[in-house]
Amino acid sequence: MNLYRGCQHGCIYCDTRSDCYQIGDLGDLRYKDRALDLLHRDLSRIRNPGTVGTGSMNDPYMPVEGRLKLTRGALKLLSQYAFPVHIITKGTLVYRDVDILQEIGKTYSAVTLTITTSKDDLSRKIEPGAPPSSSRLRALRLLRDRGILAGVIISPILPWISDQVRDLEKLIRLCRDAGTSYVLFWPWMTLRKGQREYFYGELDRLFPGLKRRYIRHFGGGYHAHSTQSEVLQRKMQMLMKELSLPHSIPQYNGPSSGLPAQGELFL
Ligand code: SF4
Repeated sequence: MNLYRGCQHGCIYCDTRSDCYQIGDLGDLRYKDRALDLLHRDLSRIRNPGTVGTGSMNDPYMPVEGRLKLTRGALKLLSQYAFPVHIITKGTLVYRDVDILQEIGKTYSAVTLTITTSKDDLSRKIEPGAPPSSSRLRALRLLRDRGILAGVIISPILPWISDQVRDLEKLIRLCRDAGTSYVLFWPWMTLRKGQREYFYGELDRLFPGLKRRYIRHFGGGYHAHSTQSEVLQRKMQMLMKELSLPHSIPQYNGPSSGLPAQGELFL
């Protein structure tokens, strides 16, 4: 479910800039003014609710949502029709809707906060319009304190920028301290046409000299894996095991299941 087009968070690596999506300028923000009417119509027709996801092409809790309340309106409808919901966001504004999330949680609700580094100064650089990492960790704590199923996805990981073992270990420990329900760890980024050109431009501005290294290593490739992604995977898995942190999201499995357990979407 995408209620907006474009995203105010302006992450330098954002995959939504890829030409294949034909979004154009990510900063050219638009909202869908009939979205709630259309959603209402569709929800009233569907007999077998599946989990509704939001947060893949733009962030449902970017600043403008504070004023427009489109996401809040959609959640109210989803609650009314008892649809399960999974939200992915960097926006701390998600906590505003904790009352509805609790209500939806009687069916199933999950909130996944994207956090890519433990360092606020780095998150401000690479995710300039989003709240810094420490604020997202606070939002996670608040959601967990209110009984919401909430976890973290650590992705993307930018080679030579956010792939330091020590930083990522620290981040996983901070997630644990914030009471995270799970941690998803995906140590790579996409580098697709459209997205790549913007990202390389930002590398020149923010990390002079790195672009040449990216071109040498990844050329026109679709993915950029950290050169130490295997080490990262192994170390982070070991740490999560040591901290007893699940590495997948419990899934909704139908109205009679009480709670989640459908196949693992994120492994
Ligand atoms: S929050 Fe997500 S959709 Fe928005 S700019 Fe960042 S990566 Fe893109």
